[in-house]
Amino acid sequence: MSTNITNPNRPLRLPEPLPHIAALAPYQQGKSASTGKVEPIKLSSNECCFGPSPAAIEAYRAIAEQLHRYPDGSQWQLREAIADEYGIDANRIVCGNGSEEVIGLLIRCYVGLGDELLLPENHFVMCSIYGEGQGADIVLAPERDHAIDIDEILSRVSDKTRMIAIASPNNPTGTYVPRDELLRLIDIVPSDVIILLDGAYAQYVSAADYDAGFDWADERDNVFVTHTFSKIYGLAGLRIGWGYGPAAIVETVNRLRTPFNANAPALAAATAAVKDRQFVERVKEHTHRWQLRIRDELGQLGIHVVPSEANFYLLHFERL
Ligand SMILES: *Cc1c(COP(=O)(O)O)cnc(C)c1O
Repeated sequence: MSTNITNPNRPLRLPEPLPHIAALAPYQQGKSASTGKVEPIKLSSNECCFGPSPAAIEAYRAIAEQLHRYPDGSQWQLREAIADEYGIDANRIVCGNGSEEVIGLLIRCYVGLGDELLLPENHFVMCSIYGEGQGADIVLAPERDHAIDIDEILSRVSDKTRMIAIASPNNPTGTYVPRDELLRLIDIVPSDVIILLDGAYAQYVSAADYDAGFDWADERDNVFVTHTFSKIYGLAGLRIGWGYGPAAIVETVNRLRTPFNANAPALAAATAAVKDRQFVERVKEHTHRWQLRIRDELGQLGIHVVPSEANFYLLHFERL
């Protein structure tokens, strides 16, 4: 075919993606195979060292006979189980295909072409991908000693800022933002700027001045919290996470969410996992004990270990 039939004057061209989609860099997966090593241990995804809770595996198996059914689009059982465990309102929880989907929905609902998404220099990479996919400008705030610096973030808030996303503990640094600093940010930032607090590693934290932000998500109109089952709960392969925030934001996210975004085995396994408090305690205690030992022993080798409250360390090998 050498002309367009409906309009012969229209040049023959290839389908073209939107310019800000075409500009996206392809997502870099962590390597999961290594030549010469029979069973390499992959550390880059911060997965759970104990696997999933046995109760979650049992719930996953039990639902095999029910796979002809659509999942519960209201996600009610899982939302109730999360609400019970975290002492929060089940009506303001929304679950997704990993917390990355919830984060993506939030960004797609509130950040558009020409808006600014403000992120610390180290951030969950999906935040910038979703933001760029919206045609938004990503504004990066430098960190200080591998920790998020609230003053650097505040100094970059502009009239175009629509959202600030902070992971605490952050990836890949493992550092967290103390409660007082987060509160200072929330108090100063304009009330129409959403503050996303990504608590993917919240359950690992033992620092007394840490705050996952549920109270702010109750009291403020612009604070939204996300959590995942991929890390301490050991369900990364199932893709299930959740968000919690003001009713108006949750309601908005639910408009864009497809009803079956969280699949039935994921909902079932996560419901069992969140109730298995003992399992989570065991993983947390084990991780904390080894965290201290690894820090001390690597420190003795002269490797600089960035203080971490999560289940991983950022290391600097320059002095070796
Ligand atoms: C692992 C991780 C998540 C979790 O993503 P899921 O989509 O729930 O698997 C979110 N934020 C950060 C910073 C992470 O490291």
